[in-house]
Amino acid sequence: MLPIVHHPDYDAASVGDDHRFPMRKYSLVAEILRDRGYDLEAPIHASQAALERAHDPSYVHGVLTSALDRKTARRVGFEMTPAIAARTRASVGGTELAARRALEAGAAVNLAGGSHHADDQGGAGFCVFNDVAVAALSLLDEARVQRIAVIDLDVHHGDGTALIFANDPRVFTASLHCEENWPRTKPPSDLDVGLPRETEDDAYLAAAQKLVRETLAAARPDLVFYNAGVDPHIDDRLGLLSLSDHGLKARDRLVANACAASGVPVVGVLGGGYSKDARAVALRHTYLVDALQEIV
Ligand SMILES: [Zn+2]
Repeated sequence: MLPIVHHPDYDAASVGDDHRFPMRKYSLVAEILRDRGYDLEAPIHASQAALERAHDPSYVHGVLTSALDRKTARRVGFEMTPAIAARTRASVGGTELAARRALEAGAAVNLAGGSHHADDQGGAGFCVFNDVAVAALSLLDEARVQRIAVIDLDVHHGDGTALIFANDPRVFTASLHCEENWPRTKPPSDLDVGLPRETEDDAYLAAAQKLVRETLAAARPDLVFYNAGVDPHIDDRLGLLSLSDHGLKARDRLVANACAASGVPVVGVLGGGYSKDARAVALRHTYLVDALQEIV
């Protein structure tokens, strides 16, 4: 079975069902997968030392002690509480654990993460800490891997990840996103492809195929982090693209199969997904699990 990581803290911070951040999808996707017979493994919270690999120590301290200044907290989009700090530490620990499991099994999934707008100086857009950056730097520091690729197919540009690794030749960052979407300023990844509004399945999948192929060829990675945000879906409230469910399934299979064909382990993280119907979003996130299950 595909190793799958989940922590009850993922949705322990109540932000209210009317908040744009869909906290409920995390427990829903876990419930769907338990019903399908998966055993979910719980991570430990990320350590302060691990968080400081990717983030300024004073920002980390501010989050962990609920003492962020108001301006920094407003940029993140959450009121900074102990529950939010616990949630984000669990989420980062989950991506660290899933990355280790992927190295053992060939693939693994964290049922959270993909907080790609957080950079070294602070968070933004519901992203407190950049789980993928922390996990990548932990594995590099431990010499578990030498080279990493981040394939970010969330509909929003992976600006935080791009900034954190701008001068780190060990990590190749690639982002496929809607060019007109937030964030307006898109600091360069190693490979960026911005799609026009309302791009549909065929054009999207052709662009994804090309981006994945070029990334694997240029990076020659020992491990891929795949941000499988489902916000390119046509029903997404924040997405601006027009993918169908079929298109999202094909996209996740494309990434899984390309990594398997190159013999590169892959760790999937959920990323964004903001439809009104939380259960529909949770179901879309299971396409990632289905795709990676096929390659382990
Ligand atoms: Zn997104």
